[in-house]
Amino acid sequence: MKRYIVKEEDTLHKVAWENNIFVKDILDCNPHLLNSQSYIYPGDEIYLPLIYVGENRVERFGECLKEFSHLDIEHYVYKWNMSRNVIPLETKSIGLSILNKPIRLIKVGDGKKKVFYSGSWHGNEWMTSKLLTEWLDHIITSANNNQDYFGTDLRQLFKEVTLYVVPMVNPDGVALVQQGNYPEHPYYDFINKTNKYTHTFDHWSANIRGVDLNHQWPAGWQKEADESPSEPWPRHYSGKAPLTEPESICIYDLTVKEDFDYVLAFHSQGQEIFWGYRGLEPQESEKMVERLSLKSSYVPKRTADSDGGYKDWFIQETRRPGFTIEVGVGINPLPFRAYGEIWSNNVLLALEGLKL
Ligand SMILES: [Zn+2]
Repeated sequence: MKRYIVKEEDTLHKVAWENNIFVKDILDCNPHLLNSQSYIYPGDEIYLPLIYVGENRVERFGECLKEFSHLDIEHYVYKWNMSRNVIPLETKSIGLSILNKPIRLIKVGDGKKKVFYSGSWHGNEWMTSKLLTEWLDHIITSANNNQDYFGTDLRQLFKEVTLYVVPMVNPDGVALVQQGNYPEHPYYDFINKTNKYTHTFDHWSANIRGVDLNHQWPAGWQKEADESPSEPWPRHYSGKAPLTEPESICIYDLTVKEDFDYVLAFHSQGQEIFWGYRGLEPQESEKMVERLSLKSSYVPKRTADSDGGYKDWFIQETRRPGFTIEVGVGINPLPFRAYGEIWSNNVLLALEGLKL
């Protein structure tokens, strides 16, 4: 066996992957780890077997074999920045999370129409980041190989459209869901208290200060806040006021600055598409959601009868179309196997989203 010191954002699946072994091999060497869902904390010493299981494995499109974190986004960004791209591509950090993780924006194309996609507003919905990032990689690679994309000429499309993507709005929440809480964590005591001292985080949607980033937008904020927890909570706490958190503020600044024609915010609960807000949405939203529905099989729903969400605020402020795409169904975080459905139902939805 060899010693391994756990790094930030490690999980059993990631360590197994990087060392070309299986999670069960790690469990065999470390009896204190109960199962494949056990957290491993930075600085922990664990043992890895000295075995060789063959060629390096690959994750194919539509496959999820390990957790996806903000570091994975950075790997893709590096790859794209190193390649000769036929479609204009820019990446930058638009801000930092509370724990100083970059909030990454990828901008593709240089067309007049501006469209914005965002994912992982909620920590336990990290599969939406994987979807958006891998889908971007799919289209960038197809364009670079001079291939059309499901019948679409991407070079032409991206002369007409500029797509802005923030794959992970809430990197701290994602990291908490994937790695758990540990004494060296800067919010250790606060998280313990907020989570009522349970040490599992599958249910954690909020950012690291226990604020729900999709509940703190100035669109019916007070009403939503009155009906939600009144203190930091794993989910649904709207904050002391609208837009108090750096993660929401940088999305606010981006939205105001770029003046998007419409927005799609990706979440992962229900295989539905929400398209209205208090009757303020423009007429064309209904036709647009029907097209998104046909390309995904997801069911259009006018509203969830809630307030304070990003799409709600966008519709209220701009009177332009805004959509919440709820990919997947089941209890968050969805099992790895759910990703196949998410991929296959959203590849064409994401493409159609550029043509509305
Ligand atoms: Zn969500």
